[in-house]
Amino acid sequence: MTQKFTVRFWGVRGSIPCPGPATARFGGNTACVEVRCGDRLIICDGGTGIRALGDELMRAGAALDADILLSHCHIDHVGGLPFFAPFYSPAHRFRLWAGHLLPALTLEDALRSLMSHPLFPIEAEVFQADIGYRDFRAGESIDLRGGIKVRTVPLDHPGGATGYRIDFAGRSLAYLTDNEIRPGGPDPALVALARGVDLAIYDCAYTDEEIGAKAGWGHSSWRQGLALADAAGIGAFCLFHHAPEHDDACMTTIAAQAQAARARTMTAAEGDVIEL
Ligand SMILES: [Zn+2]
Ligand SMILES: [Zn+2]
Repeated sequence: MTQKFTVRFWGVRGSIPCPGPATARFGGNTACVEVRCGDRLIICDGGTGIRALGDELMRAGAALDADILLSHCHIDHVGGLPFFAPFYSPAHRFRLWAGHLLPALTLEDALRSLMSHPLFPIEAEVFQADIGYRDFRAGESIDLRGGIKVRTVPLDHPGGATGYRIDFAGRSLAYLTDNEIRPGGPDPALVALARGVDLAIYDCAYTDEEIGAKAGWGHSSWRQGLALADAAGIGAFCLFHHAPEHDDACMTTIAAQAQAARARTMTAAEGDVIEL
């Protein structure tokens, strides 16, 4: 069995999709990252990028048995789920995980709200795949079996969010979005979770110049992200959840500045593949 550990970006934006010629290089879809651990499929978030991933999975034709790890349920992270074609086929099985809703809500409640009148034409009952809703409390470890270890941490975001660390075959990935870093520095629990990971994908929605006006919005600047990377001894660091107003020219500048500021820094673009 292959022990490959790969990441592929299907959506790298935060807040709202921003397709068009000015964002063609970095991409306009919202958060969705495909993770492969050997023959296992894990999908981080169901933003609009998950639609094209679903179409590719349907073309490949294999029966799917996969886990979808949701950072939280803001629409830029779940808005693509009703358009994920494998949900409409009884051949597939999914487990959807969320760690920020208990005890007031469940993930099933949240998806039923997303797909309800008058905001949506069809209800979640139309899904034909075997979908298991798995609520947990951020901070707990979750069991994906097959030698895949997943630890989680609560993130600082309005309404809560969950950060994930996936360890497989001696390598590790942290998926950390959406998160605000307060003036005192990053949460020690977050630093502990990210300690020494080979790759961290992190919410770098804004620049330092912009972040001051966004206090309480639940996001970070890329320089705050790099400081977290240094504090946690992270290997490769990847800027993610780009603000929709950052067009390709702006993102190219940010990517160059971030790369110059810290070795092994990259900026996620739709279609990028990283092998850990
Ligand atoms: Zn977001
Ligand atoms: Zn959010």
